[in-house]
Amino acid sequence: MNLYSGHINRLIEELASLPGIGDKSAGRIAFHIVHMPKDRVTRLANAITDAREHVHHCKVCCTLTDDEICPICSNPKRDHHTIMVVENTRDQAAYEKTGKYEGVYHVLHGAISPMLGIGPSDIRLKELMARLASDDIEEVIIATNSSLEGETTAMYISKLVKPTGIRCTRIASGVPVGGDLEYIDEVTLLRALEGRTEL
Ligand code: ZN
Repeated sequence: MNLYSGHINRLIEELASLPGIGDKSAGRIAFHIVHMPKDRVTRLANAITDAREHVHHCKVCCTLTDDEICPICSNPKRDHHTIMVVENTRDQAAYEKTGKYEGVYHVLHGAISPMLGIGPSDIRLKELMARLASDDIEEVIIATNSSLEGETTAMYISKLVKPTGIRCTRIASGVPVGGDLEYIDEVTLLRALEGRTEL
C-alpha cells in the first residue's frame, strides 16, 4: 500500500538508500524538501549533481578534489618527502584540521577486508607504489584506522614498503580500536602521529 504520492515515495526511497539515513529520517527529509522554496531545492539538487560531476581523484595523492592536482599536492611549502597514508578523504581532513602535519598524503579509498571481499587491488595501492618508485620519498606514515581492516592494510603496506628501503611508520595506538579517524579529537590525532613507531 502506498501511503504517499509516487514522487514522495521515490524521494524517500532514494534518501533511505544513503548511508546513515534510515526510513524515518528519509521520510522527514523528503517532507522537508517538498515544503522548501523551489529555488532552495534547485540549489540543493545542483550542489549534488555538481559535486558528482566535478569532484575527482587528485592525480598524485588520489584524494577528492575539484582540481587535477589537489591544493596540498600542489603546495610547494609542504614536505613532499613524507607521505601519510589514510583510508579516505575524511580521515585526511581530520589530520589537516590539526594544522600540524606538514607532509603530503595518499588516500586509499578503503581498506583491505577479506570479509567484504575487498582486496589490495580494490584500493589505491598501485598508485602509492608508483609514487614511492618515482618520487624522492623518505617516510611513509601509515595512518589507517585501528580496525581489523585498517591493521590488515597497514601490515600489507609495510610489507610492500620495506624492500624499498623507505622508512615506514605506523601512527600510535592512541586511536581507540575500531575508531574512525574522523571522529577523534585533534589532540589524540597529534599524539598518535608524534608517537608513531617503526614498522
Ligand atoms: Zn593530491
